[in-house]
Amino acid sequence: MILILLGAPGAGKGTQAEALATATGAAHIATGDLFRAEIAAGSALGLEAKSFIDAGKLVPDAVTIGMISSRLAEPDARNRVILDGFPRNVEQAEALDAALAHSARTATAILLEVDRDALVARISGRRICSGCSRSYHLTKNPPKHEGTCDACGGALTMRSDDAPETVAARMTNQLAALDDVIAFYRASSRLQVVDGEGEIGEVGVRLARAAAAVGLHE
Ligand code: ADP
Ligand code: ADP
Ligand code: ZN
Repeated sequence: MILILLGAPGAGKGTQAEALATATGAAHIATGDLFRAEIAAGSALGLEAKSFIDAGKLVPDAVTIGMISSRLAEPDARNRVILDGFPRNVEQAEALDAALAHSARTATAILLEVDRDALVARISGRRICSGCSRSYHLTKNPPKHEGTCDACGGALTMRSDDAPETVAARMTNQLAALDDVIAFYRASSRLQVVDGEGEIGEVGVRLARAAAAVGLHE
């Protein structure tokens, strides 16, 4: 099955998807991480995506859907997958359904609901690992050693699109499309809502319960 983790920028998708994947053995696939890896590698796809990401806009569907389709075709993604950051508009949600139409796999969504003020506070303190993409927070989820990833020892950096101007653009450009995606899954009875406020561990317990209820794990 494919579990889609929906949420606004900064809602905790990456943090929770990583923990849930570790706990359940599902593959964690994050479009933002895939784009950042392409940018770091200097590929043509990365170069194209960067201009949109830096402007706080969605990368065009043709690029995004092509990239995620290749990733979903890899061996580790054959069984259970947690999708983080995809789909981000209705066209992408329809493309995913079309891709799954001839398989036994189903896609179902869980929304991590977080208040807008909390999103901004989360994003401004976010640091990510340049090695493994793990997400930290300066005060809410600091690493054991300042500036260094607990998991891989990589250096922690701030995302260029987490600068305040770009964060405002992301909210303006992307939240309406998120609402459409929420409505899309709700209309086909494939949406669960989880309260994303509170401590990371508390949210994790609620999410794991919801994920079990939709069949990701026991
Ligand atoms: P966040 O964690 O803040 O939600 P992501 O790391 O998921 O952000 O994505 C970073 C940026 O990459 C987005 O602001 C957008 O520009 C681009 N992006 C990620 N996923 C998609 C997608 N499914 N469609 C289009 N653009 C995307
Ligand atoms: P997303 O992938 O949805 O953009 P992240 O998982 O990267 O979100 O989380 C955004 C920031 O908020 C990170 O700095 C993360 O450490 C922090 N964070 C995640 N969950 C919580 C929470 N429940 N309470 C406080 N901070 C959180
Ligand atoms: Zn790391």
